[in-house]
Amino acid sequence: MPESDYLVKAVSKNGAFRSIAVSTSNLTEEARQRHNLSHTATVALGRTLACGILLCNTLRKQKGHLTLKIKGNGPLGTILCDASSEGTIRGYVENPQIECFDNKGLVDIDKAVGKTGYIHVIYDTGKSIPYQGSVELISGEIAKDVVNYLATSEQIPSYISCGVYLEPTSGKVMQAGGIFIQALPGAKEDDLKIVEETISKLDPFSILLRSGLNLEQIIKKALADFKVDILTEYEGLCFHCGCSQGRFESAIASIGKSEIKKIIETTGYVEGRCQFCNNVYLVKKEELERLLNSPQ
Ligand SMILES: [Zn+2]
Repeated sequence: MPESDYLVKAVSKNGAFRSIAVSTSNLTEEARQRHNLSHTATVALGRTLACGILLCNTLRKQKGHLTLKIKGNGPLGTILCDASSEGTIRGYVENPQIECFDNKGLVDIDKAVGKTGYIHVIYDTGKSIPYQGSVELISGEIAKDVVNYLATSEQIPSYISCGVYLEPTSGKVMQAGGIFIQALPGAKEDDLKIVEETISKLDPFSILLRSGLNLEQIIKKALADFKVDILTEYEGLCFHCGCSQGRFESAIASIGKSEIKKIIETTGYVEGRCQFCNNVYLVKKEELERLLNSPQ
């Protein structure tokens, strides 16, 4: 596994394509451990996390948060991630214990996610009304659905491949990541044909990572017939959730004094679990009494 998760952005010298590639092995493994994910849920959330980071770096130039929600009719239920332009991401799967294998014993993602449902994207800069878009799922494989979302809702012709490779017995994440290629307005018909041809022969992303290639080499392989400029390389992508004891207490304070009084008289404490990162917070009786007696 690479030491840290990172992202590389590149363009072809002729201005026809841009590409973003991400390595997300560590943050996907952290998500697996935090949520105690099954093999199937790890692959599904891992693909969603990679796509969330790629979309966050594709759609908007302003700083903000991108929420990618995959709501299919399969047994995994909703898969959701929240990526920030600072390189942090968090996410969860509604039913994290579900396993779904095909007859070869491989994780069957489209069956687990479901082929019917919706993909929702929200981008919030915190300044104006959040941008929202939504289209129907077409495959349940996640990357194909995100490509269809970009084509349908954003009129962005693109290619995405993402992959998650697990250690077969333990389910530990060995490799995870994804690549995005967008045809820019300068792309000629011939350029598109060449790239389509190259991409159709490209190994799945997790195999490319497993073969020892780094992201720059993978981008150059996908755009093999073009000269490529590497624009930026960003290290430090990580799983991060902004929840805290203080925020949990503020949420409890907001339910009102009569409700807090009821809690003191019944259970005497409140426990809550953050859906995004699975951290558990406890507000004890003394703290509830302090909230009850505070001026607000
Ligand atoms: Zn959290």
